Amino acid sequence: MNPIEAALEGRGVGAPVAAALARYGRLVLEANTRLNLTAAKTPEEIAEHIADSLTLLPDLRPPYVDVGSGAGFPAIPLAIATGIEVTLIEATTKKARVLEELLGVLGLRGTVVPQRAEEAARDPRWRDHFLTGTCRAVATAAAVAELLLPLIAVDGVALLQRGRFAPSERASLEDAALVLGGAVEGERPAGGERRIVLVRKRTPTPARFPRRSGVPQRRPLCE
Ligand code: SAM
Repeated sequence: MNPIEAALEGRGVGAPVAAALARYGRLVLEANTRLNLTAAKTPEEIAEHIADSLTLLPDLRPPYVDVGSGAGFPAIPLAIATGIEVTLIEATTKKARVLEELLGVLGLRGTVVPQRAEEAARDPRWRDHFLTGTCRAVATAAAVAELLLPLIAVDGVALLQRGRFAPSERASLEDAALVLGGAVEGERPAGGERRIVLVRKRTPTPARFPRRSGVPQRRPLCE
């Protein structure tokens, strides 16, 4: 058995889905030898990223957007596991191209938007559109809230995957969410120190957000 598949089955992923996810993992490892796509270099590390992506499954509702997809975590594992259509917003052109290829080769339904989230959020096709948004390993919690909430429809949720989560980062997120029309609704454990923080959009995000490209990450709100 392929080592990624074995590692996933060892984490409780069922056989047919584990095989499809392992195929994706092998493609990422292959592409990673040509391009610097992800820091994960071994089958075990790839399996860990895939397993971490799948912790989002219980909260996923379409339409679904992922910001800063990189090599496709968490959106591609979620698409493989559920068949859901995905919108991937990725600022780096070469990564966006690889994501297009991965969707095609794996036969997944989805769109790659080769832009920064700050620009995509000004596009009427995407603003206030999605019921679920994710943004893994991209920025601090408050910055992620500014990148995601403008894209989320009222009543939709931004799902923030966090590791260690200092009280000051939580306080900034709570304040930033309010400014952006959202509210932190709660969190649930996602293995070890990992957790998923749920930010619900309550009212439309004010038109001045997101601020211009680069600012949300350089100067996160309320930090
Ligand atoms: N989400 C993937 C993961 O968990 O492995 C990739 C994480 S990687 C560290 C961060 C990615 O976010 C990079 O591919 C980068 O190009 C992209 N990115 C950073 N800021 C962005 C923004 N404002 N809009 C869209 N993509 C962004």
